[in-house]
This record gives sequence, C-alpha cells and structure tokens, in this order.
Amino acid sequence: MITVFSDKHRLRNAKTELYGGQLVAPFESPSRADIVLERVKSEKLGEVIEPQDFGIDPVLALHDAGFVEFLQNAWDEWSQTGFEGEAIPTCWPARRMSHRIPEFIEGKVGYYSMSSETSISKGTWEAADVSKDVALTGAELLLKRDQKGVFSLCRPPGHHAALDMFGGYCFLNNAAISAQWFRDNGIEKVCILDIDFHHGNGTQDIFYEREDVLYISLHGHPRDAFPHFSGYQDETGHNAGEGATFNWPMSPGTQFGKWCDCLKESLEKIESFETEIIVVSLGVDTFEKDPISFFKLKSGDFLSIGKLIAELELPTLFVMEGGYNINELGVNVVNVLQGFEG
Ligand SMILES: [Zn+2]
Repeated sequence: MITVFSDKHRLRNAKTELYGGQLVAPFESPSRADIVLERVKSEKLGEVIEPQDFGIDPVLALHDAGFVEFLQNAWDEWSQTGFEGEAIPTCWPARRMSHRIPEFIEGKVGYYSMSSETSISKGTWEAADVSKDVALTGAELLLKRDQKGVFSLCRPPGHHAALDMFGGYCFLNNAAISAQWFRDNGIEKVCILDIDFHHGNGTQDIFYEREDVLYISLHGHPRDAFPHFSGYQDETGHNAGEGATFNWPMSPGTQFGKWCDCLKESLEKIESFETEIIVVSLGVDTFEKDPISFFKLKSGDFLSIGKLIAELELPTLFVMEGGYNINELGVNVVNVLQGFEG
C-alpha cells in the first residue's frame, strides 16, 4: 500500500493545550506522525511518496471562505496584538447572543471555533494546508492509479473541522475534502466511515443535508465524550440528507465485541448504499491505553478491523485522524492497513 506523507506536518507544533484546567503539552504532537511513518517503513508496507499541491480550490469547495481566510491570517493577527501565548478561544457566540463576526482577533477566534483545547500556533495554517494535500494526493492515486487502498498520513487531523469551525485538533477536514474531490471527479456516491474514538462532528456538519455522501461514525457517547454536543443516534441527516448519516455512540468501557457488531452493521449499510469509494477516517484512539478516550480495543483488534473493511472490496482511502498513545500508535495504525491488505 502506498503511503502519502509530508515532513511539513511538523509546522503544526503547538506548545499549549487547555486540558483539565491546565495548559499542557498537546496530545496531538509531531511525534505522532513520525512514529506511524517509522512503523510503515519497518513493516515495509510500501512506497512512501510526497504530496502534490492542490491549491485552495478543493478547500473552498466545502469550507466557508471567511473561515479559510481567518485560518490563513489568525496567527499573524494574534501575534501582532502583543499576546504572548498561542491563540486559544475564550468567548463564543453562545445561546441568544449575536452571531455577527467581530473585527478583533480574540472575537474571531471564538466565532470560528467549537472548543478551546486547540490553540492556533505559528505554522498551523501551513501544516493544515499540506495535510489536505496529503489527503488529496491519496485520493488521486486511488482513482487514477487504480489502487485497492491508499494511506494518507495526514497531520493535523481533520474530522472535527466543520464548515466554519476549528477545534478538536482539527482545522481543515481532510476526509471531507477528499470525499468532495471524488464527487467532483466522476464518483456518484462516496461513503465516509469514521472509526476514530470521537464523533466526527465536522464531517457530519458538512454533509448533513446531502444524499450523495454517506457518513457513518462509531464513537464514544456524547453524554461522556468530546465533542459532547454531537453524535447522538437520532442525528440521521436533514432534508435531502435524511438517512445518509448514521451514528453509533457507545459507553465507557466498550470492548471490541460490541464495537465490532456496530462495525459489521455499518458495513452492511455501506453495501446497501452502493457506494463506489470509501474514505476511512482512521483514528486508533479506541485503543485500551489511549490517554484521552475510554474504549477497550487491543492491538490485535485493529488487524480484524482492516480485514472486515477489505471484505467490501471497494477502493479505500485511509485518512489519518486521532490516536494518542504514542508507544503503540504506529503498531495499531499499520495493523489496520495490513489487515486490509490481507
Ligand atoms: Zn479522536
């Protein structure tokens, strides 16, 4: 399997994350991508290639133009104020408040975010922009070089990034941008299967009213898990998109047996949707030793996941999302890919 990777992910190297009331070193760190690449190489998964530059158009095909401009300029505007720390949102357009976009960067950071754990640091935009190229290069390889599966080793991740909001370590929605690129390049129906521990609120938000992109997510129940306000089972799509969103929220302590039953039902839904291509939002924070999650999957289970996805016999783009147990991150990610290859 080909892996698409860029060293430029290191440009996203924030110093701070707001966690448990403290500023800590971010769980979403550059070492994550490096450890996965190391495993890809040591297991001889296949060729590793650099991304091409797809420009801004595929981003603007989905994300709000004002949001994109905000991301491009946020660090400069923030640092020019004289603030000494990284840009962390502190004030939002909450219930019954005005939704007009402020002029001062402090207000804009709040307007264009969904949560406050994720800071915008120097280089964040540049890394996010290349991460989307990593995803799109994988998409193009899958389509034009007739591959069975391609691995886009994206960082920063993307599935929490909504139409016009960043958060949850995500800025541009790599999986959604790829799905849209497939649609714009002759694919009628695309499915995004999101197996990250967290609900992909951003991906759901982007496709919620569309019937051409099926979104299925298995995740920690929003009663107990981030992003807390999205991912309930009764969120099933709206207008034309009604029935094209499926959510499987699961409780703390969920073991592979129960999780796998939900995956198998998801795969049946994908089959009946008659999709031509699958994008897998590949997070392995479902792992039992993940520091910020609560499922109990074991390393060997990730092989089974890849094997089950392969049974669909559809071209599959794996887009890297979360997973924060650095020691076993590489093993777990590559297990999914090796399981898929058989
Ligand atoms: Zn996650």
